[in-house]
Amino acid sequence: MKIQNKTAWLTRDLKRIFCETLRRNERIEGKRCQYYKRHLLVVVVYARISLNAMARINGAWIKVWMDPEANEFIPELAQIFEHELQHNRGYCHKSMLPWNINNTGYEWAADNKRFPLRKQERN
Ligand SMILES: [Zn+2]
Repeated sequence: MKIQNKTAWLTRDLKRIFCETLRRNERIEGKRCQYYKRHLLVVVVYARISLNAMARINGAWIKVWMDPEANEFIPELAQIFEHELQHNRGYCHKSMLPWNINNTGYEWAADNKRFPLRKQERN
């Protein structure tokens, strides 16, 4: 997984959240570990309005628009990232399971000791 981070959020914090989401997704959907390690590109930019994302269906490309002010949205970030992973796996909305649409099952991501999301210090 490669992250092109154009925000002040720490790339390693983002990566920890995305990798854990991917790990959990693979427990359900099967491993694509090597494939994603090599090819998955995640582009992270600031949102104008709110957290949002898009992905290539049957691809390995995800773009995430992050709310610059929000700190309480890591479960939502994990949910939206997994939704996009499912698009990468070839799912369209019709064929997605409810857990890809509903915002449940991401309580793990609220643990901000394990999954902090910090901003880079400015000098
Ligand atoms: Zn979608």
